[in-house]
Amino acid sequence: MTIITLWDKSVESYVQAGREIELKRPKSCPACGNETLIFWGKRERYATGGKQNFHLYVRRVRCKNCLSTHTILPAFLLRGKVYLAERIVRALELVYDGGGVRSAASKLKVARSTVSRWALQFKSQAEAIYGRFLYLYHTHFPGAPPPAPYACYCRSALSLARRLFILASEKELSACEFSRWLVLATRGLSPANQPWSLRGGRIPC
Ligand SMILES: [Zn+2]
Repeated sequence: MTIITLWDKSVESYVQAGREIELKRPKSCPACGNETLIFWGKRERYATGGKQNFHLYVRRVRCKNCLSTHTILPAFLLRGKVYLAERIVRALELVYDGGGVRSAASKLKVARSTVSRWALQFKSQAEAIYGRFLYLYHTHFPGAPPPAPYACYCRSALSLARRLFILASEKELSACEFSRWLVLATRGLSPANQPWSLRGGRIPC
């Protein structure tokens, strides 16, 4: 399983720490709930922000009770994705704000097939993601009415994400706290369990 951890410094500072990256050990095991986790090695990983590529290490933990191992992912990464979370979300915004895949891909200089895959994965999870954002919204900003939803979950989820980001900055919650939400809300965006297909190429919403 993946455990998301806050990283409130820059991506570069995480990368610079290299193998010596120090993270707080997560309290309880996501599989069995016991507080029996121990650090269990590191794994090399690559990430890209577009212009910049990163070579970094992610730490792993093992549970002494159920013997499961888990990866600790800093909040700026998504499971199974090489691109930084921020970049993927930007691409989704460009696609669903009416620009479409081709225009988003050329603006961000990312392969069209990659943006298309993100969009399809996002679309297949959009309802659940919207629900998680709505939950976060009501939990953190109970007084503020959420933005009116659009006819589709993709745009509704993205517009809610944007509003959350604005409110989070007003409340001086760090961008990292927001990115943690984002990762939690989009954790379904992984290649493993997707029923999508690339054939057809259009991403109607
Ligand atoms: Zn366990």
